[in-house]
Amino acid sequence: MKRVWRAMLVVASALGVVCVSWASDPLARLQDEHSYAQPERVRIRDLGLDLRVDFSSKQLSGTADLSLDWRDPAARELLLDTRDLDIVRVLGRSRDGGWRKLKFALDAADPVFGSKLSIAMRRQYDVVRIRYRTASSASGLQWLEPAMTAGGKHPFLFSQSQAIHARSWVPLQDTPSVRYTYSAHIETDAELMALMSADNMPDETRDGDYVFRMRQPIPSYLMAIAVGDLRFKAISERSGVWAEPATLESAVAEFADTERMIQTTEALYGPYRWERYDLLILPPSFPFGGMENPRLSFITPTVIVGDKSLVSLIAHELAHSWSGNLVTNASWKDIWLNEGFTSYVENRVVEALLGVEQAQMENVISQNGLKAEMQQLAASDQLLVLPALTGRDPDQALTDVAYVKGQWFLMFLEQRFGREAFDAFLRSYFDHFAFQSIHSGQFVDYLRAELMAREPEAISALELDAWLHEPGIPEFAVAATSARFAAVDVARSNFLNSKVTAAELPTTAWTTQEWVHFLEGLPSRMDGAQLVELDAAFSFTGTRNGELAQRWYPLTVRSGYFEARPAIAEFLKRIGRRKLIMPTYEALVDDPDGRGFARDVFAAARAGYHPITTASVEALLAPSEATGAP
Ligand SMILES: [Zn+2]
Repeated sequence: MKRVWRAMLVVASALGVVCVSWASDPLARLQDEHSYAQPERVRIRDLGLDLRVDFSSKQLSGTADLSLDWRDPAARELLLDTRDLDIVRVLGRSRDGGWRKLKFALDAADPVFGSKLSIAMRRQYDVVRIRYRTASSASGLQWLEPAMTAGGKHPFLFSQSQAIHARSWVPLQDTPSVRYTYSAHIETDAELMALMSADNMPDETRDGDYVFRMRQPIPSYLMAIAVGDLRFKAISERSGVWAEPATLESAVAEFADTERMIQTTEALYGPYRWERYDLLILPPSFPFGGMENPRLSFITPTVIVGDKSLVSLIAHELAHSWSGNLVTNASWKDIWLNEGFTSYVENRVVEALLGVEQAQMENVISQNGLKAEMQQLAASDQLLVLPALTGRDPDQALTDVAYVKGQWFLMFLEQRFGREAFDAFLRSYFDHFAFQSIHSGQFVDYLRAELMAREPEAISALELDAWLHEPGIPEFAVAATSARFAAVDVARSNFLNSKVTAAELPTTAWTTQEWVHFLEGLPSRMDGAQLVELDAAFSFTGTRNGELAQRWYPLTVRSGYFEARPAIAEFLKRIGRRKLIMPTYEALVDDPDGRGFARDVFAAARAGYHPITTASVEALLAPSEATGAP
């Protein structure tokens, strides 16, 4: 099926059909199919929140004031995105400063997009106030019982708004094409600290009453809140770590190079424009590695491994301060503009800080991961410039294509135009589109004008088209290589051919990346005796390093190495980060003996999972249940 698709696309491409013509219809490319809003008619300019965080009812309740910028003089309706919100009352601010009640209608909920909120008005009010409550099941909020935190004494709340979950805790235009400033007044339990993607103060008094201001305009997916027993420790004048007391010291040690990282990125791509840059370490149930909430990256504790070998995650979230937070994709079909650029910048920062060998190893791992993932993807999902995602949840359409193929394309441009020219181009691109939301065509136009026009021979139109509009990886792409991985390949092959024992392998100086490469190169099923030998020598079973666990445990499942099962159960219950646990669930579901075990572990673990992780595991378990397959 994949081949048929590819052949069809190649023919279409030769006829010039498949080339998305944004030049002829840029508006269609800007259109966000995941939002009910009509930003061409009216836009939110500023948001003012006044919310009470109630842990007993797992609810946020209060008001959202939307300051509006009317673009169409004839418009008399405001359409907003909501999901599971209880809308109590809507008011419009009159010219005399008083408030007038407005009529509103909340549509029935669409399973992916939620409910459209329509607010009718006789004239164009400049401020609309909505009184509302969130549902305890809000998809963008996770409420953790004290037992699910590191400290075990206080509850914890955190948000995850990307891609379209902001609408589950704020009624707004939930589309990255709209940027606005915001302020907030948050009340909660006196012993808890509240933080937002805004101006968090390191010396804030802990009293349950907090105010925030975000002066740089941001898209809704960067709205963020966290409340818990959080303490701060500085790394530098403008950077530090927020974490539960039990995690604070180890996090500060792991991420001590954050200020150097900021300076390195600034030297490459221009000044950091968001004032402070702090890290918030979340409990292990956080479904992602990190989330680039502006001024306050949300970070999984699973990258605290003691040797700084996974700090590229911080480089990634920090890089978003340029690629994504500063220059945003206008809709989710162009997310490669966000994640591809960020993966590229991340790797450049890793190279500058940790050396070219580290950067090469990380590239080989990610390119291998992309190739493996592409085997499972429909041809249309392998395109950098995705077709409209109508009816699909953008979370489910997000793959390594946006990240790694996007990065690979930018590496290709760097190779062809030379690093110096490409660095200057990228820096000017971030300046040119700063605080804007754009589509792929705008990037390509800028590329043509600023880089291709100066050196027309460097790349061809066909090459550009292959990267942007064809599935797979172009045949002319240069794959990453790593000399250190070549040495790992030799060591692995000596072990597999019984030339050396596991204990004799030269692993003393191996980093996480070398271990990952070692594990990834092992056969998909292994002889029990060799697995036992590896486990005895390196204690993979029970490892606290999630990058190793996510590769070792599936291998044990496929090989029938049941001794690892108790440790697998413990791992799947302790960690909620989707990338780390899904490969093990997938291996278990594929295994006749593993399916029941997977169901049992999930039943025990799901209370601690984020709704996003729960949805992924349920989708995996569901088909076999529906068909009654053994
Ligand atoms: Zn990212």
